[in-house]
Amino acid sequence: MLPQNADEVAAVVAWCYEHDVPVVPRGGGSGFAGGCVPVEGGVVVALDRMTRVRSFDPLLWRIHVEAGLRTSDVQRLARENGLLFPPDPGAAEQSQIGGNIATNAGGPHAFKYGVTGHWVTGLEAVVPPGELIAVGGPIRKDVAGYDLGGLLIGSEGTLGIITAAWLRLVPAPEAAAPVVGLYADVAAGCAAIEAVLGSGIQAAALEFLDRGALDAARAAYPFELPAEASFMVLAEADGSAAETAATAADLSDALGSGALEVQALGSKREIEALWRWRDGVSIAVETVCGGKVSEDIAVPLDRLAEAIETTLALGARHGLPACSWGHAGDGNLHATFMVDPHDPGQLSRAHAAGIELYEAAARMHGTISGEHGLGWVKRGHLDVQWNAATRRLHREIKETLDPKNLMNPGKKT
Ligand SMILES: Cc1cc2nc3c(=O)[nH]c(=O)nc-3n(C[C@H](O)[C@H](O)[C@H](O)COP(=O)(O)OP(=O)(O)OC[C@H]3O[C@@H](n4cnc5c(N)ncnc54)[C@H](O)[C@@H]3O)c2cc1C
Repeated sequence: MLPQNADEVAAVVAWCYEHDVPVVPRGGGSGFAGGCVPVEGGVVVALDRMTRVRSFDPLLWRIHVEAGLRTSDVQRLARENGLLFPPDPGAAEQSQIGGNIATNAGGPHAFKYGVTGHWVTGLEAVVPPGELIAVGGPIRKDVAGYDLGGLLIGSEGTLGIITAAWLRLVPAPEAAAPVVGLYADVAAGCAAIEAVLGSGIQAAALEFLDRGALDAARAAYPFELPAEASFMVLAEADGSAAETAATAADLSDALGSGALEVQALGSKREIEALWRWRDGVSIAVETVCGGKVSEDIAVPLDRLAEAIETTLALGARHGLPACSWGHAGDGNLHATFMVDPHDPGQLSRAHAAGIELYEAAARMHGTISGEHGLGWVKRGHLDVQWNAATRRLHREIKETLDPKNLMNPGKKT
């Protein structure tokens, strides 16, 4: 179904609820957890036609959009008016704002600016049995009721269909300057990451690539890389021109100790080339063996090196090349096992390695999903990080809001 407005979404959900038909919301289809796949059949409600900007008040730093508007369009509208919509998940040209909210998507700049939910001040949604609700709005504070918006944010389409959102914007930083540190090993790289935080530097982004990820993307790196570089830290300073220059200098110092080399980039062309390259890392890793099973665990920052090494050890034990990269400042890593997608043996070993990785993340007081959600691919694994009482509460919330279990069934369980 391709509804044109919230009333049509409500009518579809009402019909489905009356006739016991599952409903699966679909945004841009860029999610990594299989969340928008109708595994139990039913009606897929795609928000593609709901792309209206309902209102935009640049002078008040806010925008009200329908859920089907692409992430990159929200970012562009903000930028053209001197503002910034900071969430920057990597598939912004494809993903929709509703999908970003439904997954509470992160991205490189979530380190400074927070994940998508931080930027939502109001939501309109259709919930079972087909009713339109609205929470929050063009307001920056609201503690009147329970945080129902917070429940919908990150709910992966299992509680309702988000039809529109009020978003908060900020004045765009005047400048940005990435600084890249290159290291001989994981320990030196992770020590540099902790040095950035320990020095009190607020980087806008703080990313990493380990050896396997760096090797996969090495040939496309737009600048020179020392041959012995086995770990990269990519940090970015932003703010006014003066603040950016000062923060970039501080970053160079903090990243410098133990580094093989530090590269400070300044021109617009260099910055764009660097981030374009970073956006392509996931695909570069995929091309190594033709496929990959990529996780998105998050751990406390002081366990990042352990999580990276654990990924490598699990890969070795299961006979699979492994690597990781991701959002170092958030302790969020795309721990990856590279596979030939046509080899069922490799796929099942990667699956087994993934389950052991979830257990390791939980032991480190981390989470099995820092940004992609459970969707279909990680279903059934909440028990590694939550006790029975917590899981029961999670289930009871679902049963209260969706008593017939028709909203995206089988996901986020
Ligand atoms: C190359 C690449 C890089 C990526 N980088 C990042 C990254 O840095 N950070 C990150 O967090 N993610 C990243 N992702 C994952 C993905 O882009 C995000 O999860 C994104 O938020 C999904 O949005 P979507 O519109 O494509 O949603 P979909 O994939 O269509 O759906 C995702 C989930 O949300 C639900 N949903 C979608 N729209 C709605 C709605 N309107 N109401 C209710 N539920 C809805 C679906 O049912 C599904 O469960 C990346 C993906 C790719 C391909």
